[in-house]
Amino acid sequence: MQTVNHWIGGKPVEGTSERFGPVYDPATGAQAKRVAFASVEEVDAAVVAAKVAFADWGSSSLAKRTAVLFRYRELVDAHREELAALITAEHGKVHSDALGEVARGLEIIELACGIPQHLKGELSTQVSTRVDVAALRQPVGVVAGITPFNFPAMVPLWMFPLAVACGNTFVLKPSEKVPSAALRLAELAAEAGLPEGVLNVVNGDKVAVDRLLTHPGIAAVSFVGSTPIARHVHATAGAHGKRVQALGGAKNHMVVLPDADLDLAADAAINAAYGSAGERCMAISVVVAVGETADPLIEKITERANALRIGPGADPTSEMGPLITREHRDKVASYVHGAAAQGARVVLDGTGYTVDGYEDGHWIGVSLLDGVTPEMDAYRDEIFGPVLSVVRVDSYEEGIALVNASPWGNGSAIFTRDGGAARRFQLEVEAGMVGVNVPIPVPVGYHSFGGWKDSLFGDHHIYGPEGIRFYTRGKVVTTRWPDPADGGINLGFPRNH
Ligand code: NAD
Repeated sequence: MQTVNHWIGGKPVEGTSERFGPVYDPATGAQAKRVAFASVEEVDAAVVAAKVAFADWGSSSLAKRTAVLFRYRELVDAHREELAALITAEHGKVHSDALGEVARGLEIIELACGIPQHLKGELSTQVSTRVDVAALRQPVGVVAGITPFNFPAMVPLWMFPLAVACGNTFVLKPSEKVPSAALRLAELAAEAGLPEGVLNVVNGDKVAVDRLLTHPGIAAVSFVGSTPIARHVHATAGAHGKRVQALGGAKNHMVVLPDADLDLAADAAINAAYGSAGERCMAISVVVAVGETADPLIEKITERANALRIGPGADPTSEMGPLITREHRDKVASYVHGAAAQGARVVLDGTGYTVDGYEDGHWIGVSLLDGVTPEMDAYRDEIFGPVLSVVRVDSYEEGIALVNASPWGNGSAIFTRDGGAARRFQLEVEAGMVGVNVPIPVPVGYHSFGGWKDSLFGDHHIYGPEGIRFYTRGKVVTTRWPDPADGGINLGFPRNH
């Protein structure tokens, strides 16, 4: 069986810990590979490689860094199909969806190609007589990135291209469930000319993560994953003196007002709830149906849901693939069964779904729950599967109060033709990313991505301008070229004149 190893110091490194995890093909349910789990010593070796590389890379010219990034952009572009196939093989999502995630990752490499524009700094001349002040942004050092299973290529690409463009070196710990795409991205970076040690990949579990969070050689940690682990990462890395951005889970609401185009709203709800089998942090998991919209909307969603083609991600006719693991499939199914027991109306029950010829795959069909209330587990927890809950409310005010009472605040959307209501929602909703007639408002690469409340711990959103600030630290230089008149003894606090 193939073993997925590490990438340290610009080359593949075999794991020595004798600890491994299974990597499944979710469509067949069979174990396809095993992944080496790094020991503390192996993580330390990656941090040392990154630290050594930082000595040169941290002071390398912008011309040199961008030359590598432009080549990297071309290589990732040329390998879209291969990367998407790796994603589908281990994650299960359909090929077109996997291509979409590579495209969104490329956006961040493109942003990184323009890094000279973003690191220009600021200059104030003559702030005092013969005194100038310059503000610089410099790299922080060695950055660690820890990523989730649901975007095997895109989330790593949210992090390391920008971090290395800013002059940092990087240690990536991808999800152990889907390790191959990240490793391939590291190989391509080396092919593009990224010097050895600038980007390292250690595979593994909590042992590797906790070593990165406490390692004195790590300056900053970017994390994307579930809320409980984001909280742990933020607290532990923060306690060890690192800057941290830790993006967590979500429960994203889509408020549908009575004046909305219900066909467009139904299409949007289907795409955002069931795309990638609901395994997206920006998936819509709750439709908040205002007034009379619930019945016609549920009818339209049901009609569309019944026509969805669920099958292996590599089959071009499939629109939705399997879930990541059998355990996760069973957990998702338990929410559908639990919702029925707690009083919801199960309009669609996908829990018995299988695919002919792939009976051991991690299949589940789509589920739609009506009459869901905030006390139910299906409402309270992030299910992370193709289960859409409909909550009925009487008014906009009741809807926004419901959304804002959620502990999460990643994305939120409103569907309406009323500009005034949309504007009010943008200002009132407690979420980091808002869609107006857009169900998955993931910002483009040159804006920043991030949630509020339990969806993000730390001060910075990821990528875009906030990502650049996260991966750099400020320095302000005050300069005077003295004139003899500037001499003399004066113990007072310097004043500008
Ligand atoms: P996860 O939290 O289980 O794992 C994320 C990373 O943390 C992995 O690399 C994993 O190895 C590591 N990890 C897991 N348990 C750990 C522990 N006890 N100690 C230390 N490290 C640990 O998340 P997942 O299941 O891989 O991904 C799905 C979750 O990620 C969902 O909650 C989803 O909403 C969230 N997510 C959020 C965003 C966002 O931008 N906010 C984006 C994608 C996914």
